[in-house]
Amino acid sequence: MRDDAVRDDAVRDDAVRDDSVRKDRVRKDTVRDENVPQDASSRDSIRGGEVMEKIVGLCKRRGFIFPSAEIYGGFRSTYDYGPLGVNLLRNVKNAWWEEMVQRRADVVGLDAAVLSPPRLWEASGHLANFTDPLVDCLGCHARWRLDKIDGVCPKCGSDQFTEPRAFNLMFKTHAGPVEDDGAVAYLRPETAQGMFVNFANVLQTTRKKPPFGIAQIGKSFRNEITPQNFVFRTREFEQMEMEYFVPPKEADEWFNYWLDERFRWYLGLGIREDELRLRHHERDELSRCGVAVLPLSKARELERASSTYECTDSDVSTSMYCLSLISRATSIRLRESLSAVVAESE
Ligand SMILES: [Zn+2]
Repeated sequence: MRDDAVRDDAVRDDAVRDDSVRKDRVRKDTVRDENVPQDASSRDSIRGGEVMEKIVGLCKRRGFIFPSAEIYGGFRSTYDYGPLGVNLLRNVKNAWWEEMVQRRADVVGLDAAVLSPPRLWEASGHLANFTDPLVDCLGCHARWRLDKIDGVCPKCGSDQFTEPRAFNLMFKTHAGPVEDDGAVAYLRPETAQGMFVNFANVLQTTRKKPPFGIAQIGKSFRNEITPQNFVFRTREFEQMEMEYFVPPKEADEWFNYWLDERFRWYLGLGIREDELRLRHHERDELSRCGVAVLPLSKARELERASSTYECTDSDVSTSMYCLSLISRATSIRLRESLSAVVAESE
């Protein structure tokens, strides 16, 4: 799963500049600028940047991935999959779906809506907590994420900043013709909530009970301050996610089961074992659910050893924390089905 808390290094001021400012200086290489990692402070990252530039160029020439809206100068960090790219993308999704849903009796599928009401994200805590704290340097006006600098501006060395402002990462829009507060809607920032809010529906219609999982593949949207590295970090992205619900006392067992299971899947795809490693998540990398329910030592992710890119694979979170959080805010019916499940599993 693409983790909420895995974020970038310092925010560069040009990355948060308003689009209207950028339009004034649209150049042919605008798109390419954003594709190349910009933190080329060491020789290694320069080399990495060159490699990335070659990959981006190759993907375009061969018809895999094009910069989006390229004939209009491109649109920041969005990409279109070309004739070959779309096949590649479908193959990956189909392979995952077949393995995670179609071949398993204990996992069912779901395809939830992208547009969602504020109440949902209020209940999940995203409205209040899915934010980055931003500050402006009073010396050079560069903008930074407060938690990524040590009280000193990395650009000019000043220690004077504006008060931090919470920047919510959710894309906000309006449903219907009137743009007032009553019509506010959000593009989902994750697929997981679709599984949680449909938990009671799935339970009732499939007669499943824990341990069982709900899987989903679909687009999510996050207004990242520093999208970068080509398709590895974008504001609009596809998630393949499975939430597996287990009786709390079996959590460890199932967590380890899924780690092994997913690791095996990568080997089956032809990735060499020495190119894969399991890595412990640091505390600040854990998603909300993870912080609440998983011991730190249990929160790990599959990650390619050869790169620093996060593996956007299934979630192995194993508790009902999110569910109980939502049940407090929503209907009695959901509460009842939850307490039935929890009671049964205790
Ligand atoms: Zn500064």
